[in-house]
Amino acid sequence: MKVAILTGGVGGARFLRGVVEVVDPAAVTAIVNVGDDLEVLGLSVSPDLDSVLYALAGIGDEERGWGRADETWNALGTVESLGGESWFRLGDRDLGLHLVRTNALKEGAPLSAVTARLAAVLGVETTVLPATDEQVRTWLDTTNGSFSFQEWFVARRHRDPVDRVRFEGTREARPAPGVLEAMHEADLILIAPSNPFVSIGPILAVERIRFALERRRVPCVAVSPLIGGRAVKGPAAAMLQRLQGGISAVHVAQCYPGLIDVLVIDQEDEAAADAVSSAGVRPVVTQTLMRDAASRKSLAEAALNAVALA
Ligand code: GDP
Ligand code: CA
Repeated sequence: MKVAILTGGVGGARFLRGVVEVVDPAAVTAIVNVGDDLEVLGLSVSPDLDSVLYALAGIGDEERGWGRADETWNALGTVESLGGESWFRLGDRDLGLHLVRTNALKEGAPLSAVTARLAAVLGVETTVLPATDEQVRTWLDTTNGSFSFQEWFVARRHRDPVDRVRFEGTREARPAPGVLEAMHEADLILIAPSNPFVSIGPILAVERIRFALERRRVPCVAVSPLIGGRAVKGPAAAMLQRLQGGISAVHVAQCYPGLIDVLVIDQEDEAAADAVSSAGVRPVVTQTLMRDAASRKSLAEAALNAVALA
């Protein structure tokens, strides 16, 4: 069975680890958000691609959900003591990857090729693709002004209420090589329990990816990032409340109009199951908190078994 999965960083990476326990990792293609990418200290950083790579390589920090395990912070400490830009957290091991990627991009390699090389040396069998090789950037219009994604998310700790999410560069952006092929060849398309607005949104803003999903001939199963109306981490619930008018599973389903057939929701959100059905999406109720390998795997099984495949 071939699976294509649209994903952001932390929630998506956790889920992917479960998915590759259930299906052959080599039959999985992760299509990853690049709207959070940034240049900092002269380096090209792709936070969501890295969360996915680190998780699949088994070298990610499980507690934080991003960055590498056994990390140290000497380089960033030096940057700070020298008065450099130190608001974006880059660990020493992590920095090594950014150096390699930045250099390869400078030499003209597309991000997808650089990512493939990194995945290969990290022993990752799953195909990891940026949604696009072109530069796309997420911007937030908030009650306190407009901010680039990382300025809002990291520097301002996503405290400013968001009125609108905008994507720069997505209109013209083409899907990276392999993205549409993976979606067409898949027996099942998954949407990870990632933030619908700032993780999945920038992927779907690439027109040809959205079209491919709209015209899918195979089922699309999304997993809700909310548990009991709350995000496990990050601003998803606050954004749903403000941008979608509520924090129930129905509001999550409404983030993907015409794009999903099934929504996997948590037992705590079971009361909304009928309303999800009425919205034309089949709810699957299960435990969705991924706290260890067993819970990651059982959530992946619930999503993968949600539809009977031919
Ligand atoms: P980011 O790009 O690093 O911000 O990560 P994502 O967008 O991929 O994931 C963030 C989302 O993951 C948040 O909205 C969380 O609620 C969700 N998330 C994290 N851990 C879990 C979990 O164990 N279960 C579920 N259902 N969602 C989770
Ligand atoms: Ca992200």
